[in-house]
Amino acid sequence: MATVTHLSSINPATLENVGEVPIHTPADVLAAVQRARLAQPAWAALSVQRRLHTMRRYQTVIVENIDRIVETVWKETSKPRTEVLVEIFAVLEMIRHYRNVAAKALAPRKVSSGIVLHKRAYKRYEPMGVIGVISPWNYPFLLPHTPVLTALIAGNAVVLKPSELTSLTGQLIGQLLKQVLPDPEVFQIVTGTGETGAALVTAGTDKICFTGSVATGKKIMAAAADSLTPVVMELGGKDPMIVCADADLERASAGAVWAAFSNSGQTCMAVERVYVVDSVAEAFTAKVVAKTNALRQGVDSGDIEIGAMISERQRKIVESHVASAIQQGAQVLTGGREGTNGFAYEPTVLSDVTSEMPVMQEETFGPVLPIMRVPDVQTAVRLANETPFGLTASVWTRDTGRGEIIAAQLNAGVVCVNDHLVNYGIPALPFGGIKESGFGRLHGEEGLMEMVRVKSVVVDRLGLSREPYWFPYTRQMTGLLEQAIKFLYR
Ligand code: NAD
Repeated sequence: MATVTHLSSINPATLENVGEVPIHTPADVLAAVQRARLAQPAWAALSVQRRLHTMRRYQTVIVENIDRIVETVWKETSKPRTEVLVEIFAVLEMIRHYRNVAAKALAPRKVSSGIVLHKRAYKRYEPMGVIGVISPWNYPFLLPHTPVLTALIAGNAVVLKPSELTSLTGQLIGQLLKQVLPDPEVFQIVTGTGETGAALVTAGTDKICFTGSVATGKKIMAAAADSLTPVVMELGGKDPMIVCADADLERASAGAVWAAFSNSGQTCMAVERVYVVDSVAEAFTAKVVAKTNALRQGVDSGDIEIGAMISERQRKIVESHVASAIQQGAQVLTGGREGTNGFAYEPTVLSDVTSEMPVMQEETFGPVLPIMRVPDVQTAVRLANETPFGLTASVWTRDTGRGEIIAAQLNAGVVCVNDHLVNYGIPALPFGGIKESGFGRLHGEEGLMEMVRVKSVVVDRLGLSREPYWFPYTRQMTGLLEQAIKFLYR
C-alpha cells in the first residue's frame, strides 16, 4: 500500500477540497526541531526590545493581509467573516499588550537577600530553547499565535504543529511571520495528523504547549514523561452560566445565545450549560429561543451568524448528545437537526435536562444550549462545580458585588460577571483551566513566564577570605547561631 504523503483541507460548509499540505514524518519533525535549535541562540541574543520591534512589524503584516487571512480561515472552517476578524483583533491586541509590558516582565529582578545581607540576589529569565506548539482547529489563526508569540518574545525558537483540519491557516501563519523574523528558521511549521504531533512531543523540545482535547492531552503528558519534557495543557471545558433572579434577562439571553452558538459552539469556553433560577426561567428561556430563531445560518461569510461545524465526526457527537437527552426526557425548543449545508447543525436549545445526561456532563463542542432550572443560586453553584472540567464560567446578576462573591465560589480558571468569553480579549489576564481543563497559563505575565527558565543568581559583596559559617566549625560560631535563631524567630 502506498504511503499517504499529503492531507486535504475541506471547506466544511461546501465540502470542497480547498488545498493540500504535506504529512511530515517523524524524521522531518526531528529535522525541524534541529533547525530551530540552531537558529535560536542568535534570536535569544537580541534584546527584548529588538524582538518586540519584530512584533511591531508583524502587526503591520497582519493588518495588510486581513483579506487573505479571512479567506483562508473561512475556507477551512466556514466561520463568518466577523468571527475571523475577532481572531485577528485578539492577536493584534495581544502583540500590543506585550509590546508594552514584556521588556519589564523579562528584565532581571532584584530580590531581598534576607538575613544574608552581604550578598546581592536576583532572578534572571532565560529562554527555554525550542518550544513545541500543538494546536486545535477551532480558532486556527488565534490559538496558535498565543503560545507562539509569547515563546518568540521570550527568545525561544518555535515548532508549530497546526490541526490537520486547518493546516492551510497554519502554513499562512508561517508565511506571514517569516516575513519579519531576522532568521526565518526560528519558526518552523510541521503539518500532519496526530502522528506528526506525537513525533513533536518526543523530538527533544524544551517544552510542549498543547491546546486540544483532554484525551489527547493525557496521551501527550504520558509521552512527555519519558524525557521529563514540561507541558502546558489547555484542554476542554463544560462551561456553566448561572442566571440569578435579578439578572438583566435581555442581556443574559443575548449573551447566552452568542457565547453558546458563535463559531457553531466550537469554543473551549463556550457556554455549555445554563443554570437559571426558577423565578426567571420561563422568561429567560423564551428570550433565548426567540434570539436563537433569529440567527442566520449558511455559507456566505458576510451575512450569517452561524456557519457549519468542522467535521462529520464533530457533528455526530452533537447528534448523539441531543438524541440521548431527548430519550431521557429533554425537550427540543428549537433546532435539533442537521443544517442544510455541509456539516452544519442548527443552533439548538434544550429544556428539561438533568445532570445525568451526557449533554450536561461531557463536552458537546457544538451549537447546543441546555437550560436547567434550579431552585436557587446555591444549587446552581453546586451543580456548576460538579464536573471534571474547570475552564471558564459566568454569573449574570444586576448586583455585580454579589456576582463577584459567586465568582469566588466557582471552580474555574476564569469567571466573568455579566459576560462570557470576553476574557480572551484581555491579554493581561492569564488564561487556563483547572481540573481536567488543564494547567499552565497563556496570556498575562504568567503566559510569558511559561516560556522562560528562572535562574537565581547570588553575588558575594564583601570578598572576605572565608565566611564565618564555613569550615572549621567553632564553638563560638555554633553558640552565636543558636542565639541568632532564638533572637530572630522565637
Ligand atoms: P485534538 O486533541 O483532537 O487535537 C489537537 C491537536 O493535537 C491537533 O493538532 C492534533 O493533530 C494533535 N494530536 C492528536 N493526537 C496527538 C498525539 N497523540 N500527540 C500529539 N498531538 C496529537 O483536539 P481538536 O479536536 O483539534 O480541538 C478541540 C478540543 O480542543 C476541544 O476539546 C476544545 O475544548 C479544546 N480546546 C481547548 C482550548 C483551551 O485553550 N483550553 C482552546 C481551544 C480548544
